[in-house]
Amino acid sequence: MAVTETGVSYYGLSYVEHARRDFQEMLDHNCNAVIFALSEFDVDFWFPNIVRAAEAAKEMGLRVYLDTWGVGKWFGGEPPSLFLTNNVGNRQHSAFTGEAMPAACFNTEAFRRYYFEMIEKLATHVTAADGFFWDEPHYALPKSYASITGGAGDDWSCRCPICQKLFEAEYGYEMPKQLTMEVKRFRHDHALDILEESTRRIKRIRPNSKIVCCVHATLGTYYVTENRGYDNWDKVGRSIACDVFSTTILSYSLPRSFFKSITQRTLDIANKYGKGSQRWLMNYYQQPDNVAEIEEICKLYAEMGVESLFAWTYRGGYGTVLAAPNALEMWDALGRGYGAVLQR
Ligand SMILES: [Zn+2]
Repeated sequence: MAVTETGVSYYGLSYVEHARRDFQEMLDHNCNAVIFALSEFDVDFWFPNIVRAAEAAKEMGLRVYLDTWGVGKWFGGEPPSLFLTNNVGNRQHSAFTGEAMPAACFNTEAFRRYYFEMIEKLATHVTAADGFFWDEPHYALPKSYASITGGAGDDWSCRCPICQKLFEAEYGYEMPKQLTMEVKRFRHDHALDILEESTRRIKRIRPNSKIVCCVHATLGTYYVTENRGYDNWDKVGRSIACDVFSTTILSYSLPRSFFKSITQRTLDIANKYGKGSQRWLMNYYQQPDNVAEIEEICKLYAEMGVESLFAWTYRGGYGTVLAAPNALEMWDALGRGYGAVLQR
């Protein structure tokens, strides 16, 4: 397998004529794909120019993916949520304290309808897009004390009235406050259900749409696992909500052996279920001691057999509070790394 796709995420998308210059810069940095990081505000307010920018990117030779970035704070990302601003309810609840959290409960009818409308609007009108990118979907994590076994001492979500009702209807008893096996299965099933229904709706409109499902690169061992709802990679990998199995960026302070093991596990799941494989690189916030290391990591992923490499984000996050210390240098190093591995 060779690397056939290299890309970056892109936000702040407003004016097509400006975006065109940025797309050219991506091409000059050996990218052949771009992910539009679309906040709820973007989809609501800048919609006409999202349609046109996708057309421009496509015309210039980039594949285009649509990322419903930070939506409902169910997906990863910094942008605020219009849904949470405009709704007082439909939030995830802590299992231990019962308190509402600043994240939409994606099992509520209100949020599901809101999200389905958003993706159907994108699928219908952004005809130049090649697919969708599910960006680190997760249940909100009420932070408790660290537990090496990830045991029942940790608080979790969502135990809102709707989730409780759904659980009781499926299992025939009150939803426990402990993270039991049944609660874990319930959370996994429902976490995937909304993505699977979204996928069906997208493919009804655009059958060739490619769905990239990007989950957190967790340890996922016998002793330590996280409970975001998408940590059972087998379940995610075989789901219809995943044409390409993708795992998130890793901190440069982690040992390279961890980069290797996460990448091997990503490839194993992709191969097992006949899906594409994608690995993410950090190109914002942090940088390795020597920026050229990013080129080494591109090479490592390519040699291991990953098909798609993506980095967060365009220009190393230049101009944002999450810029890499030497953002533009990182961006250039990424471009060199991509150039060395991309099969044209
Ligand atoms: Zn809930």
